[in-house]
Amino acid sequence: MTTLQQIDLRCPVCDTRFRSQAVVSTNSFGGKRTDFHERAAGTQPLPYLIHTCNRCGYSGAERDFTEEADVTPTLKEHVWNELAPVASTGMTGSEKYEAAAKVADWQSSEPRHVADLLLRAAWCCVDENDVEAERFFRRKAAWKFEEALESFDGVAREERAVLTYLVGELWRRVGDGAQASDWFDRVPAEMIDPESQQWVLDAARQQRECPREWFG
Ligand SMILES: [Zn+2]
Repeated sequence: MTTLQQIDLRCPVCDTRFRSQAVVSTNSFGGKRTDFHERAAGTQPLPYLIHTCNRCGYSGAERDFTEEADVTPTLKEHVWNELAPVASTGMTGSEKYEAAAKVADWQSSEPRHVADLLLRAAWCCVDENDVEAERFFRRKAAWKFEEALESFDGVAREERAVLTYLVGELWRRVGDGAQASDWFDRVPAEMIDPESQQWVLDAARQQRECPREWFG
């Protein structure tokens, strides 16, 4: 089962101290969707992997609330202008990930990292039963993964095939079959090791021809 515990955090933007719930342990007994969304049995851990300061709205993982956080005056300005007005207690998982993606973008993080946060926002929307917001975040995640794939060294060579597949799967789940097929068709050219990556090729073919919701 997923276990949570209270942790004490200090916001590096406004210095507010607050308590948040964090994941101690979780599981993947709930299966894995074909967009790599792993499901836990019991409580879903995703919303508890991101923390939000309810005074200024700054959001991120636990390490983003430590000395390691990259907090510049420009970032502070963005947070006060754009996140503080909508910050509140009890933000949903998708709202927290959306804020964390904005923070990562303002910190000029790698597109790949921002894309991962947007993908997780979409996954949270699935549990929040918000189909419209789910599509919105899937689109934004697809564009960011595309940006990462286009940039020089934005994605490790051995990860290009799987991320190319994922972009196809994101477009498929948005309902854009043409873009989905286009990305699934690019998978073979991104393969570097036929043996270990055969499953990616199989997944791309399957999702193009006879899509499934779950792996396995
Ligand atoms: Zn704060």
